[in-house]
Amino acid sequence: MDFVEELKSRVDIVGVIGEKVRLRKAGANRYQGLCPFHQEKTPSFSVHATKQFYYCFGCQAKGDVIRFVQELEGIPFFEALKSLAERNGIPMPKRSHYTDDDTRQREALYQMHELAQQHFRASLAAPSGEIARAYLHRRGVRPETTEQFGLGYSDRNGHSLLRLLEHHGFTSAQFKDSGLVSQREDGSLYDYFRHRLMFPIHNESGKLIAFGGRALAEDEKAKYLNSPETPIYKKSNVLYNLHRAKDAIRKEDRVVLVEGYMDVIGVTAAGILPVVAPCGTSFTEPQIRIIKRHTNKIILNFDPDAAGNRAAEKYIGLLLDEGMQVRILQLDADLDPDEYCKERGAAAYLKQLDSAKGFFYWLADRARAKFDTKTTDGVVEVLKFLLPAVKRIHDRLERMAIANAVADYIGVDRGIVLDSFLKNVADRKDAALERPQELARVDEKGLLSVLLSDLQGRESLLADLENLDILDRLVTSRIYHALLGVYSTGSPITFDAVSSRLEPRDQSALAEAVLSEEIEGRDNTLEYGRQCLESLRRSGDQRRIRDLKVLVKDAERAGDTAGVMRLLKELQSLERSARVNP
Ligand SMILES: [Zn+2]
Repeated sequence: MDFVEELKSRVDIVGVIGEKVRLRKAGANRYQGLCPFHQEKTPSFSVHATKQFYYCFGCQAKGDVIRFVQELEGIPFFEALKSLAERNGIPMPKRSHYTDDDTRQREALYQMHELAQQHFRASLAAPSGEIARAYLHRRGVRPETTEQFGLGYSDRNGHSLLRLLEHHGFTSAQFKDSGLVSQREDGSLYDYFRHRLMFPIHNESGKLIAFGGRALAEDEKAKYLNSPETPIYKKSNVLYNLHRAKDAIRKEDRVVLVEGYMDVIGVTAAGILPVVAPCGTSFTEPQIRIIKRHTNKIILNFDPDAAGNRAAEKYIGLLLDEGMQVRILQLDADLDPDEYCKERGAAAYLKQLDSAKGFFYWLADRARAKFDTKTTDGVVEVLKFLLPAVKRIHDRLERMAIANAVADYIGVDRGIVLDSFLKNVADRKDAALERPQELARVDEKGLLSVLLSDLQGRESLLADLENLDILDRLVTSRIYHALLGVYSTGSPITFDAVSSRLEPRDQSALAEAVLSEEIEGRDNTLEYGRQCLESLRRSGDQRRIRDLKVLVKDAERAGDTAGVMRLLKELQSLERSARVNP
């Protein structure tokens, strides 16, 4: 067996996708969840456990397990292959046709990052790391936490990492792509990170892909410096600590978003695990979608300063657009999450988290602090301030509930708030991605499912299929012809083999047929396949009978007696067999 086929047969697609998308069992072999490839609020993304494919009824994203890893992680085919093999303990063949230049280059970048981390950690422990160790001590970071987060130190001399990478035989082209080394105008190279506390950044699968560095020199202008974008690091697709927090996020069905690396580390060290941060950039839609694959409940806990408030205000809108439930935690005594955990303890922080306000109360508080709600003008200003967020709530009932709650909260007549909110906001519906299309019959889908299953003796159905008059008139006719095409080559008839012979439109139709709820619960037995085939044949006969009746009338009108006789003979024989096999 080809290695790709072997890998696919040994990897459980539901397990792999289930790590990235919350799936629930929706049928015997069918799992469902929110599509990671388009924005939606009701699940139209399905995974078929036995036929080992995924398909989205909304955006028609589809494919096998390798395709899924490629698309979701944005990596080339061979890297997806390798990553799946590694995660499932399947040895990769050494042969060079199981890799390509792109994948080899990325592999070199991963290795350089691993080497860099070892180097930074060693430097932190070395005498030159004294300043960094003192900083960590001052911030109350325990040695085991330093270990857990793989913290390190990039020294001052500016070429020790460069020398190490050269020593390991990496080329200068590889350095430059890595983001770990920079180039002066005269062409000479130097370490990108110098005299900084180093935070390794991982992707969702736990692979080291970048670093963040905090300046240790007081006069350093850039307090935080992050790796530039590289072939393995796209800032807007990465959340700091997600690979560690993922399980807790799912278990608790919530995530805490904080601003910085030290906040994540402090909160995690206090034993509160579902916490992530954007990587030194602003929080973006792709990052929200990543979170949404694991939970739709988010608590924003930013620094209690003007910048933190502005950020929260901005992100509320983005989060509502993606259908997230948003709460805001504003800690008292002006502490950031890290400081709060250290000064007040984990239990106190947890209590704060549990009682975090819905975003609307937080916004109302902000508005109340700015405007005087005792005056009419003030009320108008408050409502104006709240309107952008209101507009982003899609559900009319939810909007009304919020209007009432806000009215009570700021002490304004409910009618006024409701009026203002309803007047300014048109109802929106989820953009339904409906496509007019001809529907396949249940027996067409049933027979397809039987023929694509690993069933002994299914070949016996194929001979009859080829002789089926109605075959060319079926909605799924091109799919059946592809299936017969695979059969004629002698290769095994599998979902993938048939799908790969089809145009994208028919690939979608095939996925939809196999995932159809109408055939759910039907065992893929020869007997069921035979029933479907019979039913198709009968409906073909019925159709022919209807056609013949019209033809007979035409022939009678034309005075074609011989034609009438011939047609009647066929008609009677079909009607007889219809009576015998109703
Ligand atoms: Zn989709």
